[in-house]
Amino acid sequence: MRFELVPVPDEVGERPRDARGYPVPAITPWRDGQPQFALTDHDRSADCAVERKCSVCGAFMARGPVWRVVGPAESAEIAKALAAGRPYRNLAPTMEGPGHRACMLYAAMVCPFLARPNARRRVTAGETADGLTTAAVRGAARGGTGAVVGFGDYEYAVTGARVLFRFLDLVEFLPHESADEHLAELRAELARAAGRG
Ligand SMILES: [Zn+2]
Repeated sequence: MRFELVPVPDEVGERPRDARGYPVPAITPWRDGQPQFALTDHDRSADCAVERKCSVCGAFMARGPVWRVVGPAESAEIAKALAAGRPYRNLAPTMEGPGHRACMLYAAMVCPFLARPNARRRVTAGETADGLTTAAVRGAARGGTGAVVGFGDYEYAVTGARVLFRFLDLVEFLPHESADEHLAELRAELARAAGRG
């Protein structure tokens, strides 16, 4: 759906925008006044990791679960683990940082890079080769084309070149075929946040 029609979490609404009006995530680098949506800025990402800030809106994340958007390969792995009744563990690090539930629902709906993280941002050759696994899971309805996923906790490591995250303790799995399916959930989450505010 058109991004103007997606309700915007308050903190995301305060982000700078690009020329089309897209809010620019907190971890996105800028070059010559243009946000580079496909890339992750090392220092911005490190700051978010260390300060426990949301990688989308840049605001503090309270203690408790954090969320991220996963692509089709990881979504299929999670669906498989849940169907088999076993805990889901993925110890492969990712450069995708965590965020608020509302921010990740929003990002899944409007941001093509966040909605398909592994498509453009593979971390190392040892990590899941998305080219292979995507082909393997294509057509498998379970797991869909991606998911918004909640985790009880995350770990991070900041090296000179990269900021890497690992997510522990799956607490919520919201797979989608089309990210538009998250609209009702996003509306409900924003209503809850307004109630808390
Ligand atoms: Zn946020």
